[in-house]
Amino acid sequence: EEANLQKIVSHAKEYGFVFPSSEIYDGLQAVYDYGPNGVELKNNLKLLWWKAMTQLHENVVGLDAAIFMHPTTWKASGHVDSFNDPLIDNKDSKKRYRVDHLIEAKAEEYRQAGDDARAQALLDKMNELLNREDFEGLRQLIIDENIVCPVSGTANWTEVRQFNLMFSTKAGAVADDSMTIYLRPETAQGIFVNFLNVQKTGRGTSMKIPFGIAQIGKAFRNEIVARQFIFRMREFEQMEMQFFVRPGEEMQWYEYWKQKRYDFLRAVGLPENKLRFHEHEKLAHYANAALDIEYEFPFGFKELEGIHSRTDFDLRNHEQYSKKKLRYFDDEIKESYIPYVIETSIGADRFFLAVLCNAYTEDVGIDAKGNEKKRVYLKFHPAIAPIKAAVFPLVRKDGLPEKAREVFNLLRYDFNTIYEERGAIGKNYTRQDMIGTPFCITIDYQTMEDNTVTLRHRDTTEQERVPIAELPRIIGEAVSL
Ligand code: ATP
Repeated sequence: EEANLQKIVSHAKEYGFVFPSSEIYDGLQAVYDYGPNGVELKNNLKLLWWKAMTQLHENVVGLDAAIFMHPTTWKASGHVDSFNDPLIDNKDSKKRYRVDHLIEAKAEEYRQAGDDARAQALLDKMNELLNREDFEGLRQLIIDENIVCPVSGTANWTEVRQFNLMFSTKAGAVADDSMTIYLRPETAQGIFVNFLNVQKTGRGTSMKIPFGIAQIGKAFRNEIVARQFIFRMREFEQMEMQFFVRPGEEMQWYEYWKQKRYDFLRAVGLPENKLRFHEHEKLAHYANAALDIEYEFPFGFKELEGIHSRTDFDLRNHEQYSKKKLRYFDDEIKESYIPYVIETSIGADRFFLAVLCNAYTEDVGIDAKGNEKKRVYLKFHPAIAPIKAAVFPLVRKDGLPEKAREVFNLLRYDFNTIYEERGAIGKNYTRQDMIGTPFCITIDYQTMEDNTVTLRHRDTTEQERVPIAELPRIIGEAVSL
């Protein structure tokens, strides 16, 4: 399975999707850059999410808040005091681990061995200790369970320490403490602090509850476990939506968004058997319901998106700290209240990784000489494919390139299309397969006579003869969700 991930990581680099950050300096852990095809794919994912949220919901509007926020924001949200991971160091390997990850791995071992009860008991014990912030107890649990460092193989552990995940920096020229600001660890707080600004101005008039605010933007976390490619990054992008509802009506909206978000993930091509809901048994103190939509990555089922019923926790705390009223007057029931919130939160990068893993396909076929031949291609839904169509003239003479450019110009304003006149057609097809282009169009001598082209389909490799005039319709239908 890890081998599968390695193939995908290599493919992503070789075909211009994802590069390690500052690679010429040997990279920077848990930071990545998106290449020419990667940025197209990611933009497509973000735009589809944006449209599904704002354009397809009359009562959801957008926002683009700054990364820097007043430092008190993070006191109010609880991040200064409790956005911590408990860590432990192995004295021999000097490796540092998240305590929960070490214990979860042990529980997984029990599960693999068929002892579900023991696995569950261990997780329950861990959660109880985490809730009580009993760090000595957690250390003792690690020792009692004989959990060893995967690198050194020893159980020579330090004490457990809390580690805050927020990055901080200084604003202005004065280096005094009051100027410490944080790089936001989530985009949600930009929405909460703007709640009234948006409510009053939403669609040109004021927004009536229930309504939502959607935002896409960078978030930063000083993650310790920086493995698994772009699954867990230190700089990443979130797509979050906060939906404000009347208290008492939150559960129906929780169910609504749970279904909507699942349908969205299915629509962009993630298959049913690789998605599942994971309801949280242990809830954060401010939540009254929470679940993850998990995707089966090459390293197992892991959180892709979180859906949380956050009550009035955030707005209430911001009221307290800012001393500004963050209430809504509900005309229908003639009452003023702090709304409850349903949140949907998905990482654009984690979503990218899910669709990339899902698209990566190796087919073993038989070639013309009867030999086994492996074909690799990215089976993206055409709506998210970086490039929708590639146009090739069969030869570089007799007016074919000019004709091919005409076809290219017919398509490029509506679809991300490329033109290529170098190289053999077969090689060009293979290259487009590698980046997941759903359509290849070849212009040959017959085109010059009857204005038809060869349209080659990525998934089946089948080729058909179609009139040039039909291309916009065929591609247009394929790329719509
Ligand atoms: P995890 O348990 O994996 O650390 P989380 O529960 O802290 O995640 P949330 O705070 O709920 O995550 O963030 C919402 C979403 O943001 C996640 O579902 C995930 O898609 C994305 N996300 C969170 N942390 C990262 C990260 N370090 N790198 C990439 N994406 C992330």
